[in-house]
Amino acid sequence: MSKAESKLNWEDSEFPILCETCLGPNPYVRMTKERYGKECKICNRPFTVFRWNPGVGMRFKKTELCQTCAKIKNVCQTCVFDLEYGLPVQVRDTALNVTDDAPRSDVNRQYYMQQLDDKLEAGTIGHDQKGKASPAGRQLLKQLARTDPYYKRNRPHICSFYVRGECNRGNECPYRHELPEPESDLSKQNIQDRYHGTNDPVAKRILARASKAGHLNAPEDKTVTSLLLRGVEKDITEGDLRDYFYAFGEIKSIKVIHDKKCAFINYMTRAAAETAVDKALGNCIIKGNPLRINWCKPKPLGPRSEIAKEASKGEKPTAGQPPLPPGSEKIVYPSQGNATAIASQ
Ligand SMILES: [Zn+2]
Ligand SMILES: [Zn+2]
Ligand SMILES: [Zn+2]
Repeated sequence: MSKAESKLNWEDSEFPILCETCLGPNPYVRMTKERYGKECKICNRPFTVFRWNPGVGMRFKKTELCQTCAKIKNVCQTCVFDLEYGLPVQVRDTALNVTDDAPRSDVNRQYYMQQLDDKLEAGTIGHDQKGKASPAGRQLLKQLARTDPYYKRNRPHICSFYVRGECNRGNECPYRHELPEPESDLSKQNIQDRYHGTNDPVAKRILARASKAGHLNAPEDKTVTSLLLRGVEKDITEGDLRDYFYAFGEIKSIKVIHDKKCAFINYMTRAAAETAVDKALGNCIIKGNPLRINWCKPKPLGPRSEIAKEASKGEKPTAGQPPLPPGSEKIVYPSQGNATAIASQ
């Protein structure tokens, strides 16, 4: 293929594909446009680079990926976050159960990209993977999605000189004079990994947090058979909850507290409560409202057990204890089960 011919496949676009955050709050933002200004950081083909300032006090932004690459993954050309959910590709694709099939090696990529360009033009391809997602996956996405723009992300980067205590530009310095957050993994991110949705430390952190919240460890105390529901809107009645939760087992009682947007479901058996958590977690949508489910753990035991704890502190269950003072007797606290000695006077 001649150079002129292959250039036909280069992109020359009128508008960038951007998320709301990268665009900034001003709808009339002015941009500069440079045709074939840089190589796309994913496919290495030259593309049209846009530059703009997303707001007062923010850093200039520019597009980093070509439009074909952005469209294949439905991501912003600048921040590489998913356009619909505002999430890293890895988070979205994990939730939707999608695997990355874009080749990473140069040889295959050229061919692959050209085919995709043709398909995009013909309108026979789009990023619609939702069909594959489980209801739980979709619910997870809904819970994690960022719905409002997050303009803080457009702030200038942190001044590396300041961090080392060496910046002498003071107020003139265009970078942020702040210390980075201890758990910031952003510097360890790489645009290829983020795009392909692999090895992205930020995505991993989001997913880990989500699984902690979503994967509910049943309390060890097997007498616990109650669940706490949150997000119980006014139009959800006790009857609605009963209709939904009865499917998992016999219910002892339901208490709805609309002021707090919550409800308690008490099951007759532990097995029923476990089934309810298993089946309903991430799936429970009543009258269009997703409900969050949690075990309702028992309150800490009352002061009586505190006394017992205090009393047992000094006592070793082994031999060689000092003899009980005169007038003492052994008392057994039912809640504790083991013998505890305290003075009876
Ligand atoms: Zn590209
Ligand atoms: Zn963006
Ligand atoms: Zn500085």
